[in-house]
Amino acid sequence: MIKLTSSVTQRIQRHAMEAYPEECCGILLGNTDDGEKIVSTILELSNTWSDERRRRFLISADQYRQAEERARQEGLEILGIYHSHPDHPARPSEFDLKHALPSWSSLIVSVRKGEPDEFTSWLLKEDRSGYEEEQIIIEM
Ligand SMILES: [Zn+2]
Repeated sequence: MIKLTSSVTQRIQRHAMEAYPEECCGILLGNTDDGEKIVSTILELSNTWSDERRRRFLISADQYRQAEERARQEGLEILGIYHSHPDHPARPSEFDLKHALPSWSSLIVSVRKGEPDEFTSWLLKEDRSGYEEEQIIIEM
């Protein structure tokens, strides 16, 4: 299970709207409590994919390093990544699967005609054969 505060939810929605019609991406930071992930802040990243930003996102090694550094300074953990699906359902693509990391949540927000829509979160199966949907709780 993954919990998002309302301010985190709003920031992800805003980022997705600003990037539309391209995909936005970022990192989820927070803590784990009794197996529950609690996202307390996010790191908005620029999509470093050079020419297919409408359909894909890419996070560079440098961006991961900076995120790890920031998490350590603030006593947080990297809990996963988020990205948007402009005018597509919030379901992971083959590309997403290839780039996912075990134990990290993959949060997807779909954006319809520029407006944020459905939120879903996914966990990679251990054999990397697919995803399992993870329950999301949005704290208001
Ligand atoms: Zn995707």
